[in-house]
Amino acid sequence: MEDICDYNETNFLSWTHKDYRLLQSLWELHLKNEYYVSSPLYPVVTAGLMYFSVLMPWTIIDLYGKEWKWIRKYKIQPDKEVTWPMLWKVISRNCWNMILYVAPYATAEWIWRAPTVLPPLAPCVFEVVWQNLASLAVLDFEFFIWHYIHHKVRFLYKHVHSVHHEYQSPNAWVAQYIHPYELLWLGLFTATSPWVIGWFAGCHPMTNFIFQNFVVVVSIDAHVGYDLPFMPHRWLPFYGGSVKHDMHHQKPLTNYAPFYTYMDQIFGTYCPPQLAGGYKTKELLDWEKKDKAKRQKLKEEKEAKKRMAFLQSRYMDSELK
Ligand SMILES: [Zn+2]
Ligand SMILES: [Zn+2]
Repeated sequence: MEDICDYNETNFLSWTHKDYRLLQSLWELHLKNEYYVSSPLYPVVTAGLMYFSVLMPWTIIDLYGKEWKWIRKYKIQPDKEVTWPMLWKVISRNCWNMILYVAPYATAEWIWRAPTVLPPLAPCVFEVVWQNLASLAVLDFEFFIWHYIHHKVRFLYKHVHSVHHEYQSPNAWVAQYIHPYELLWLGLFTATSPWVIGWFAGCHPMTNFIFQNFVVVVSIDAHVGYDLPFMPHRWLPFYGGSVKHDMHHQKPLTNYAPFYTYMDQIFGTYCPPQLAGGYKTKELLDWEKKDKAKRQKLKEEKEAKKRMAFLQSRYMDSELK
C-alpha cells in the first residue's frame, strides 16, 4: 500500500495530488467494491453501459422528434431523416460487433490479465481533466494517421473503412458502425492512449476508467448530427465535435482527426464545418469555391495530358507510315 502512495507522491506532477478530497468519496465507493472494480472487465462493462445510455436519448430524438422544431433546428443536415430500417441495420452491426469481438476480447482479458491495483487515494480533478484531454490528443493523433491511410489506400478503404462511410449523414449509432478490423484498432488506441500519458506523468486507474467512458461519449458526440448550443465544440478550443466530423461524412477526404481540429489544420485537410440548420459559414463557402477551382484545374490538366498523349500517338503512327 505504501508503494502506491509513494507512486502517487513522486510522480512529476505530485503537487496536483494535494487536492484529493473532491473525488475521494467517489473513489472510496470504488474501493468498497474492489473485487469488481479491479477486474479487467470493469472498464469494458462501464463503457458498454455508458454507450447504450448515451445513445438512447439520441435514438428517441432521431425517431420520434421529427416534428420537434425546438431540436430539429439544430440538425446539421436537416433534409436527412433517420428511419427505422436504417437504424435497425446500424444497431445490428453494433450488436454483432459487441457479441463477436468485444465480449470475447473482454473475456480473454478477464482470464489472462492481472486485476488492477487500486491505490487508496483518488486523483485530483485537475489531473483527471488534463490527462483525459491529453490521452484524447494521443488517440486523436493515432487515429488521424490510421484514418488517413485507410482513405488513401484504395484496398483498405474498399474493404475496411467504407463500412463506416455508408452514411453521409451520421446518427449516434454510426459511431460504432465499423468493420471489425477498425474496431480492433480503435479498441487498441483507446486502451493504450492513457498508458502513453502514464509513462511520463503517472495515470491513476480512476483516470483510466473515466477515459474509457469519456471516449464513448465523445465518439457519440462526433456522430449525433446536431449542433446544439451547449455542445463542447462551441466552447472547447481546438475541439471539432459533431460539426467537424459530420463534414468528414459529407466530404470524406477532409477532417481525418476524429476529435480535435489542429491535426487537420497542420496537414491542410481541414474543412470548415456546416452548422445547425445546414448553415454554411463564409469560411465554408470560400473553402468550397477554392475546392471547386482546384478540382476544375486538375480535370483540365488531366484532359490536356490525355490530349497530348493522343496527339503523340497519332504523330508516331504517321511517322511509321
Ligand atoms: Zn464517423
Ligand atoms: Zn473516414
